[in-house]
Amino acid sequence: MRHQQRRFTQQLLAGCAMLGLAAVATLPATAATAADQALSQAVRADYQANLSALFDDFHRHPELSGQETRTAARMAAELKALGYKVTEGVGGTGVVAVLENGPGTTVMIRADMDGLPIQERSGASNPSTYKQVDRDGVEQYVMHACGHDTHITALIGTARQMAARKANWSGTLVLIAQPAEERVEGARAMIADGLFTRFPKPEYAIGFHVASGLPAGTVWVPPSVAYSSADSVDIKVRGIGGHGASPQSTVDPVTVASYIVTNLQTLRSREVDPLQGAVVTVGSIHGGTKHNIIPEEVNLQLTVRSDSYEVRDILLDGIDRIARNTALALNVPEDKLPVVVRSPTESTPPAVNHSETALRMRSAIAGQLGDERVLDITRQGMGAEDFAFYAAPEHGIKAVIFAVGGLPEDLKDTPPPHHSPLFRIDPESSIIAGVEATVAAAEDLFSSGH
Ligand SMILES: [Zn+2]
Ligand SMILES: [Zn+2]
Repeated sequence: MRHQQRRFTQQLLAGCAMLGLAAVATLPATAATAADQALSQAVRADYQANLSALFDDFHRHPELSGQETRTAARMAAELKALGYKVTEGVGGTGVVAVLENGPGTTVMIRADMDGLPIQERSGASNPSTYKQVDRDGVEQYVMHACGHDTHITALIGTARQMAARKANWSGTLVLIAQPAEERVEGARAMIADGLFTRFPKPEYAIGFHVASGLPAGTVWVPPSVAYSSADSVDIKVRGIGGHGASPQSTVDPVTVASYIVTNLQTLRSREVDPLQGAVVTVGSIHGGTKHNIIPEEVNLQLTVRSDSYEVRDILLDGIDRIARNTALALNVPEDKLPVVVRSPTESTPPAVNHSETALRMRSAIAGQLGDERVLDITRQGMGAEDFAFYAAPEHGIKAVIFAVGGLPEDLKDTPPPHHSPLFRIDPESSIIAGVEATVAAAEDLFSSGH
């Protein structure tokens, strides 16, 4: 049992652009309110009547990051038909749908739309054979290998229930279909395009990610950190090339790069609180052409992860300092010091859930789904999700992203990882649970009144 749980949690929210979910959750089981049976029945009926076919359509037609035109058009049409005021083309292909329902607070619900350049081999009955030409001009098979098709299907299910249940809540509901999560571009692009200025600014922002490693139909609401930060960093190490037999007349960038790789590990081991999450991985090192030539340069590619803004700064600033000073110590001339470049796009802060709101949502979701379906588990790994941009302190929004299990019964001994051609989730259980949990949470947040 323990073994089984570990396997589930390892793949938890492996989600996304750069992957994972953490934090020990030992929350008190609050007294659950009675489940709304009418909601359960309505969502199940909607799945049979509409959502199943909608998921099938999305699953067969996945689109690459930033190229979700077909998906966005379908989302917009569905939302318009439900009476929402819909704006398309926000931050690229993003869709914003607003439903005003009297006085009260504003709640935003987010779903991401993009698929991945992977050829599906999942064994699903409705595999994608869809292809798209990517932004580099290369034709790619595309697959919903992260489960974003369940997110957008559930958003439509949620939209339908919230519209039908207007008597149960009061306030302003904002639904967004976000592009390009897998490149951690879409959230930032929608915000830059006026998501919080052209549309009602939310007090609360919520969303879920399906998790192929959690039993289908279960939910986990991380009480604090849901995803880590992720930054891609390139280091160009420069030296003075020459003959491999005469190192004294060169400055060897291979040696310098090697020391930099080693010294970077002291960030994790010596500069960050040992109880804090931090990773500096050098995933690529390239330099040189031949045994007996000392090259001019060596290039390193890093991924940097943390669970807090403070640790992120320690790591990123430390990389600059260590690269520069290691090079100086090894006699690299001042005009050839390493060039350290942080990617402006492959960069996201940690997604830190608003704890009070997370606890409240956990209670509301447990009330609807039953306590036994709400998990209290430990995050594994340091995956990233650009939902983090909505949760960034500068916006002052109480943001919570939670996990909905999608592991099909037949795969429980071999949970397929996210971003794998074998990725497959149980759409019915995860979409129904996703809608019920989201509606229960949203109605509870609206009931706060403001
Ligand atoms: Zn994802
Ligand atoms: Zn993903």
